[in-house]
Amino acid sequence: MHELGVTFTVIKRVEEVAKENNVKHVSKVTLSLGEVSTVIKEQLIDCWNWAVKNKSEVLYGATLDVEQIPAITYCEDCKGEYSTVKYGKTCPYCNSKNTWLKQGNEFIIKDITVDE
Ligand SMILES: [Zn+2]
Repeated sequence: MHELGVTFTVIKRVEEVAKENNVKHVSKVTLSLGEVSTVIKEQLIDCWNWAVKNKSEVLYGATLDVEQIPAITYCEDCKGEYSTVKYGKTCPYCNSKNTWLKQGNEFIIKDITVDE
């Protein structure tokens, strides 16, 4: 399952940051996830909840917060911006296909919350 691999990647990265900063326990991790990213939020949270109970001491019981970034496509021809999920690759203003994804494919560790 793709989400499990992603979960381990995030845990590894957070553990590295915790070690660099002498942090003993992380209580919450916030991710920014693009709307059209290949990661499914619900599955990611399921994997996370399992992994933090079984695979990590630093992250034991830590909460995962996922902030979704809306997908926006930019049109080169009319310089318009529109919702990728709603209209796909065709610009709803001028019908051009000369468009590209401006945002929405992100997968970023945005914030790490540690115990006081
Ligand atoms: Zn357009």
